[in-house]
Amino acid sequence: MNSAALAVQQGPATFGDGDPFPTWPMHDETEERAILEVLRSGKWGSTHGDVVATFEREFADYQQAGHATCLVNGTIAISVALRAAGVGVGDEVVVPPYTFIATASAALLIGAVPIFADVDPATHLLDPAEAEKMITERTKAIIVVHLAGRPADMDSFTDLGRRRGVVIIEDAAQAHGASYRGRRVGAIGDMGTFSFQSSKNITSGEGGAIVTDDPSTGSQLYSMVNVGRVRGGGWYEHQSIGHNLRLTEFQAALLRAQLVRHPSQQAAREQNAKLIGAGLADLVADGRIALAPDDPAVTEHGRHLFIFRVPQLGAAGLRDAAVKALQAEGLSAASTGYVPLHRNEPLINEATEISRRVGRTYTPTDCPNADLVSADTIWLPHTYLLGTEEQTELLVSAIRKVVLEADSLTP
Ligand SMILES: *Cc1c(COP(=O)(O)O)cnc(C)c1O
Repeated sequence: MNSAALAVQQGPATFGDGDPFPTWPMHDETEERAILEVLRSGKWGSTHGDVVATFEREFADYQQAGHATCLVNGTIAISVALRAAGVGVGDEVVVPPYTFIATASAALLIGAVPIFADVDPATHLLDPAEAEKMITERTKAIIVVHLAGRPADMDSFTDLGRRRGVVIIEDAAQAHGASYRGRRVGAIGDMGTFSFQSSKNITSGEGGAIVTDDPSTGSQLYSMVNVGRVRGGGWYEHQSIGHNLRLTEFQAALLRAQLVRHPSQQAAREQNAKLIGAGLADLVADGRIALAPDDPAVTEHGRHLFIFRVPQLGAAGLRDAAVKALQAEGLSAASTGYVPLHRNEPLINEATEISRRVGRTYTPTDCPNADLVSADTIWLPHTYLLGTEEQTELLVSAIRKVVLEADSLTP
């Protein structure tokens, strides 16, 4: 064995002292002060304090949207956005299969039926042509996911929405600060939803937001999150059916601090992502690794995940072994990523049951591209883009070592 022996085969680990990358979330005195301030104010809820309202304005500005409404999490954000778009029981919502389960379960939660449309294997993102094929007279909305922080093809989706009369909702849970043709994501479509759950690039442990440019939708969202109240109206004046889905002032205090920190973290992630791309360029050229191609329309990548494909290893059934090998090198959070949702039995069962109740049969879609990428994709979390230059170079050498020595792995 030479020095290139894999750690998983008793060779020396690339990161001999273990995983050096930062843990998440990151915080300092800014968050501590902000939390204490809310604590001491005695105004812990947004019905009495103004921290949530302040963050909503700041976050709307950050995403270049007219309005932002905060709420409990990113899943409920999608359900509420769908309801605000008029989606109800039995209506169809087109979604990609290569995404977090919430993109589809949020539709089921309100009795709507998710219809899967395949992704583009080069980007892992919903393919507009595939989405259009799935539109029927029952389709009310398309949920476009900016997976990993990479904006989807919004030119095609906004055009599709207009041509076919369907609402476009952006699931931007992984895409804070991302922009498409210079415009921040979220309010490019009709509405956009965000998550502030623990793993996301801006976080308060749990939380979510919906952004929109449409003032009347903004007011409607406020009511839906605030038990049907209207802004400035009476306490017991419930003009519509809404629920209490409010964020606390503590969460908003954390979010205001996280929002301030986000631009410099994004710059670091972007720079390191470029270093990694450059360090893998020869393996991309010879086809051992596939990275999503550069696209001038992607003006800011949200960098929630660093995703790459290993097509030959995938075809040989060695992707999972390669991930284990990366973990042994010290990249402990390397992961195999999603099992595509069109393969998720509980989801299909629920969609089938809802369809049955409205007198229809549910026909699951074949999504060969989602199957392909789910077998050959490797994920690194965004904290792996926050290392020093030296750590980033080691990260590149760990990937190179595993990909170049992968012939010696067994499934
Ligand atoms: C995290 C996530 C969600 C759900 O957000 P929660 O706040 O965890 O409910 C939805 N969609 C995508 C793509 C996500 O990554």
